[in-house]
Amino acid sequence: MEKAGICMHCKGLANPAYSCKMCGAMVCSNCFDHELGVCRACVEKIKPGKKKDLKNKIEHESMR
Ligand SMILES: [Zn+2]
Ligand SMILES: [Zn+2]
Repeated sequence: MEKAGICMHCKGLANPAYSCKMCGAMVCSNCFDHELGVCRACVEKIKPGKKKDLKNKIEHESMR
């Protein structure tokens, strides 16, 4: 399932590469949050709250 590629964040070799489930970016394991399944950039967006509130947070922000 995993494949190698170029990380969109650090431009390094991503082997294996992970794809962010939020933005679809291909990133290396360093730039990937394995818990959330998203890339570093997306973690920043959703992390201000608590990880567990991931879905609530997104819904909340889209309502504002
Ligand atoms: Zn990277
Ligand atoms: Zn992302």
